[in-house]
Order: sequence, then C-alpha cells, then structure tokens
Amino acid sequence: MKQLEKIYEGKAKILYATDSPDLLIQYFKDEATAFDGKKKGIIQEKGILNNKISSRLFQYLEDKGIPTHFVERPSDREMVIKKLEIIPIEVVVRNIVAGSLARRMGVEEGMSLKKTILEFYYKSDPLGDPMINDYHIEAFGLAMKFEVDILKEMAIEINGYLSNFFDERGITLVDFKLEFGRHKGQILLGDEITPDGCRLWDKQTKEKMDKDRFRRGLGKIEEAYQEVCRKVLG
Ligand code: UDP
Repeated sequence: MKQLEKIYEGKAKILYATDSPDLLIQYFKDEATAFDGKKKGIIQEKGILNNKISSRLFQYLEDKGIPTHFVERPSDREMVIKKLEIIPIEVVVRNIVAGSLARRMGVEEGMSLKKTILEFYYKSDPLGDPMINDYHIEAFGLAMKFEVDILKEMAIEINGYLSNFFDERGITLVDFKLEFGRHKGQILLGDEITPDGCRLWDKQTKEKMDKDRFRRGLGKIEEAYQEVCRKVLG
C-alpha cells in the first residue's frame, strides 16, 4: 500500500490517498483541541495510542457483526480504511449525564439515565456542530430516512457491545460520538473510537480517563490515555 497525496487534514488526523481507489490512510496526530478549537495542545504519543485503541475496538465490533471502515494498522500512526462518503452527522450516545447534557438540562454530571439517549449534531466547524433531529436530517437532505434508521440501530448496538467491553475492563462508558459513511451501498462506522471522543470513567474511583482531562486541565492526560490503551488491548 503506497501513501499518496494528502486529501484532508483535520484536528487530530490526516487522510491520505493510496494506490488503491477504495482505500485511504488515516494518520493519527498528537494534536488535541477543545472548545471548537479555542484550546490547543499536544498529548504526547496520543496518535499512537488512539490508533491502537481504535483499531482494537473496530476489530472487536467487526467480530460482533458491525461493519466498519477499518482494514488494518500497518504502522504506529497509520490505519488503512475503506474510503467513505461521510454522512455529515455526529451521533452522540449517552448512558450517563455529562458535558453539554448536564449543562443543557441543569443537572449534575454522573446522574444515571432511565434510558440511553441518542443525539444528532450537524458536522460543521463554522457553525460549531449544532444539534439537529431526524426532521432536520431529512429536510436538509443530510441522509435518507432509511439511513437514519440504520444509524440509530447501529449506534444502539455499538453502545451495547462497547459498554460491555469497557465494563469488563473496569471502565464505565459514559458517552461517545460516532460518525458513519457510505461505501459501496452500505453504511459503515467510520472515524475513530478513542478517549478523544468518548467519556470513560474508572468504574471504582470515577476518575476521568478521557479528553475531559485535557479540556478541564486535570493533568495526567498521557497517563490516562496509556491506561485506557493498556486495558483495551489487555
Ligand atoms: N464529542 C466529540 N466531538 C464533538 C463533540 C462531542 O467527540 O465535536 C464527544 C465527547 O467527547 C463526549 C460526547 O461526544 O464523549 C458528548 O459530548 P458533549 O455533547 O457532552 O460535548 P462537550 O461538553 O464535551 O463539548
């Protein structure tokens, strides 16, 4: 697999074309941003850890029958992925109240929910990813109704598998963000599943093991990512 020209550079990853038209290379950087890019920093070795974590989780989900864009992890920072037509929606799954939900509903972080919540956000940096619902998605043509149904079904299924996976490793999956795309007529899970886009709390101590340590300046960020990696791979 040959890495060809850069086709997109995001906040935490770079996408490269390859000599295969259906495949891309996703390169994981150490850069971290928060608050719509207003806070910037480096988390040492984050790219390597996130590539390992995400690859393992995609493999695990594939084994459970969830189609993902993951192909292989040829090196520390590279992941070979299937080329997707990205659906411009961030799907957030919440098991426990945290972050923007705590602020929006005026409740404490850590409150348990009677039911898992699914939220949709329109992927747009200039707009700051506004929250949308099924009606906006169809009315603005972001996805078809049958696709929204698939996204919901997949997100709930993924939540079940990942919650178990983390629980067995002493971690509570509080909430997380997913992205999907179209590939040869199928919807695949895309992007990454890492502590950058998940809230992971130690089951016993409730200590945060995710990007909130960076967002909130809690320190021991690298240590937390390393610990998640160790537990996910272990
Ligand atoms: N999230 C993400 N990217 C975003 C917004 C949210 O990966 O652009 C993740 C975030 O890490 C958390 C979940 O989605 O695990 C819910 O985030 P929330 O809406 O609480 O936003 P926050 O308060 O973190 O900005």
